[in-house]
Amino acid sequence: MSRGAAEQAAAGDPLLAPWLAPLDALAGVGPALARRLARVVGVESPRVRDLLFHLPRDVRTLAPQQAFGPEDVGRELLVEVEVRRHRPGRGRSPWRIETVTAVGRLDLVFFRARRPLLERSFPPGRRCFVLGRLVRFQGRFEMHHPRPVTAEAAAGRLVVWPLSGEVGAGRFRRAVEAALAAVPDLPEWHPPALLARLALPTFREALARLHRGDEPPEPDSPARRRLALDELLALQLVLALVRTARTREPAPVLAPPGRLLAQLLAQLPFTPTDAQLRALAEIRADLARPRPMMRLVQGDVGSGKTLVALMAMLLAAEAGFQAVLMAPTEVLARQHAAALGEWLAPLGMEVGLLSGHLTAGTRRRILERLARGELRLCVGTHALFQPDVTFHRLGLVVVDEQHRFGVAQRAALVAKGPGAHLLLLSATPIPRTQLLCWYGDLAISRLHEMPPGRAPRTTRVVPLTRLGEVIEAVARALARGEQGYWICPAIAPAEATEIAAAEARFAALCERFGEVVGLVHGGQPVRERMRVMRAFAEGVVRLLVATTVVEVGVDVPAARFMVIEQAERFGLAQLHQLRGRVGRGDRPGVCLLLYTPPLAPPARRRLALLRGCDDGFRLAEEDLRLRGPGEILGVRQSGMPQLRFADLTHHRELLALAAREARAAVAAGPLDRSRRRLLELFGHQGALGLLRAG
Ligand code: ADP
Ligand code: MG
Repeated sequence: MSRGAAEQAAAGDPLLAPWLAPLDALAGVGPALARRLARVVGVESPRVRDLLFHLPRDVRTLAPQQAFGPEDVGRELLVEVEVRRHRPGRGRSPWRIETVTAVGRLDLVFFRARRPLLERSFPPGRRCFVLGRLVRFQGRFEMHHPRPVTAEAAAGRLVVWPLSGEVGAGRFRRAVEAALAAVPDLPEWHPPALLARLALPTFREALARLHRGDEPPEPDSPARRRLALDELLALQLVLALVRTARTREPAPVLAPPGRLLAQLLAQLPFTPTDAQLRALAEIRADLARPRPMMRLVQGDVGSGKTLVALMAMLLAAEAGFQAVLMAPTEVLARQHAAALGEWLAPLGMEVGLLSGHLTAGTRRRILERLARGELRLCVGTHALFQPDVTFHRLGLVVVDEQHRFGVAQRAALVAKGPGAHLLLLSATPIPRTQLLCWYGDLAISRLHEMPPGRAPRTTRVVPLTRLGEVIEAVARALARGEQGYWICPAIAPAEATEIAAAEARFAALCERFGEVVGLVHGGQPVRERMRVMRAFAEGVVRLLVATTVVEVGVDVPAARFMVIEQAERFGLAQLHQLRGRVGRGDRPGVCLLLYTPPLAPPARRRLALLRGCDDGFRLAEEDLRLRGPGEILGVRQSGMPQLRFADLTHHRELLALAAREARAAVAAGPLDRSRRRLLELFGHQGALGLLRAG
């Protein structure tokens, strides 16, 4: 949420304001601590709400130990002590605090101690609990740097937040306490009967219980279920609002005779597969209805989704409307623009490109031509949905790799073309529940069949100890005139490390193979990346070292082989996507999965699966069977938005309830204040624009 939007929202609503206040508004939180907390919660200018949404990852129960002895040395113990006196360290000797316990003396030892802190935490005479590992030194029991745990110990609980070393647990707890004290309870957005039936606490109470360790943060605890239900309701409300806004305006009926389509098919160098034609027929039927299409085309990497998209776009164009294709990255957008341009040239049709990296002049010309309707077809990145882009008559929006198309973008889309038809393309077999959660009702066309004439692709799993042989194999392939990729490990989120690894490998391969080696990674200027990609497509660069920027959808049919370093670090779906880049032509492709031994059993199973199976849908099923429904294939790696509180494997029934509740609420007319508040709390205030527009 932008600062302005949050303040505007909060300004009119005194109940919401404390939830959306910046962190340094909290008692005891100054700008420096606020900056560290921002890093902990991973939000740029966090609000009080963001701090409270940062839930503990664990609650440990620590039973205080009444007695201890030599047999406990080395164990972590919680012991009640009475502080006797401080012996400040002299020179290099540590600070020592003598205490007594139920079974005798225990020294708390601090090296390089900070005097004021220790004197404050352990005043002589104080009884308190300390948590630490028991050490025996010169016949005495000691603890080194024990942690005082007064409050938690009293309740026998230790709350553990993921703090990544930015702040201590004590400070974080105090900040959270200040936040809880600052925020008011909010009027309910759920029907009271539902809350009573599910026995759920209030929203604020749920957060308090989890942060105080009254309940573990597990999916089945009532507090966590409450937050999950709220999160799902917020999402389902947005979906319902988008759906209503989209159906308020009738969609254009796009039912042209199909002249352009026939022209395209006549000059294609191949015939569409039956699966592609079936998908086209389904899309055609949707477009001929006066209600906005909402369809997902799911097809494995290389199944030919781009052609399906283009055929749909031509139907829109022939019917006198504009159609756009949105890609998740700049590289892909340019590639799509090039491919479509080539296919359309014989038809005398033009495709525009609208991305984030155009000169101001080019961009302005494109915008003008889109606004006047001169440009019928356009490819782009999310730049297509910036506020200053207007369309003359937008009829169809195609979104490639649909999982990156968030709820917020859909709201933006409705603003551009209220009744526009929507077609989503995806290579990831996303489970049904997940789709329901993020899309509501969605029609699906599956491309089960690959274009014919694809030579089989081989996948081999090779330990890094055989790197020398792999390089020799690459040398032979290059000598035969082949092209291929060398993918460097994805060490998310440390992108710098990833780039460094790619650069080091690039340098080594250059030394061996010279000028035919190219490098692309996310840290390069886009122009440089595009230049290298083009050189690769033209066959000037023949070995392309890359980080995962090539992951999605890049199509260089001449690429014959792929080496993936540290394949064990990648997810199954990602590896399958990656290797989909090779063996797209009519000659066999090879994928070498390099791993660093020893392999952990799950990674071993993953790599074995990939070696044995080349069908994305079957891989998904196998993966599901292996891992159980807890970790569904690729959902995490697919870029599918993550839920914060809800876990769809545990909260399916909450999803159903939320969906029903949202539909009823939106059908009943304007949203009431409490539900608007819920949307703002979860950062969906963009969707409120849909309300006002309607
Ligand atoms: P994806 O589904 O992964 O997006 P693409 O649309 O990029 O796949 O298609 C992969 C390759 O297959 C492209 O080079 C495309 O031109 C080609 N292709 C698409 N349809 C067919 C077909 N019916 N017969 C032969 N080749 C096809
Ligand atoms: Mg594609």
